[in-house]
Amino acid sequence: MAAKKSKLDVTQDEVTQQAFHKYQSLKQIVDLWQQERGSYWRNSLNLAEKPPYLPVRDLPAEAIIELWKRLNSSMKTEISDADLSEILAQFTADQNTIDLDPEMSTCFHMAVSGVAHLAAEMAHQKGVRAHKFRDGAVSSELQCPVCAEFSKLAVVTPPDGKRVMHCTICGFEWPVKRVGCLHCGSEDAKQQIYLQNEDFPGIEMVVCLLCGQYCKEINARELSVRDYVWEDLRTLPLNYAAELWSKEHAKKVH
Ligand SMILES: [Zn+2]
Ligand SMILES: [Zn+2]
Repeated sequence: MAAKKSKLDVTQDEVTQQAFHKYQSLKQIVDLWQQERGSYWRNSLNLAEKPPYLPVRDLPAEAIIELWKRLNSSMKTEISDADLSEILAQFTADQNTIDLDPEMSTCFHMAVSGVAHLAAEMAHQKGVRAHKFRDGAVSSELQCPVCAEFSKLAVVTPPDGKRVMHCTICGFEWPVKRVGCLHCGSEDAKQQIYLQNEDFPGIEMVVCLLCGQYCKEINARELSVRDYVWEDLRTLPLNYAAELWSKEHAKKVH
């Protein structure tokens, strides 16, 4: 059966290019830190027996702060170690960073993500297997088995179109069912609508008419993506548009 397709209207943000340059320069700092300091910090990481293998709240604070300071100094932001520790403790308690200005917040999230990537690499190298992911504390297909954060980013992989989720925090990928809603579990293909926009080829927003939730699906057979985090950020207008579309069309408003 042909999938239901529909067109999605979005407005492109003019500052995307600027944001990309800023993101790239920060990403280079993260990459360099991982090369220099990754093996040192990996020695202090312990993966759990079951998912989540290393949730964000259990990542070593010293590692996050070390990377965060490098990112801050590249942005010419001065902040004391005591303040950094306090902000991190606050985040660990309730995942809240609303008091930070946008640049600080970006640096903070990239630092958390940079350290979380080390855990994901370890999990990947250990070959933690897909069928184990449904055990233990992780029950949703959308929840990362390594860092326990939720992802809305799916990738359809070559050559045969298998679907994986990509975690935008730690970069781990895990297989999920190919069709149906990853939120409510509905297997009824007629209830899944694929929204597209011509400015974003190779990307579909899959909205479930039953639960009103959506996922972004990147078709890696059509679109070659080097950095999924940037790809997700760059295409955030699609998320907003899908949310609006869903509010108008879904049977149940979330
Ligand atoms: Zn993750
Ligand atoms: Zn659903």
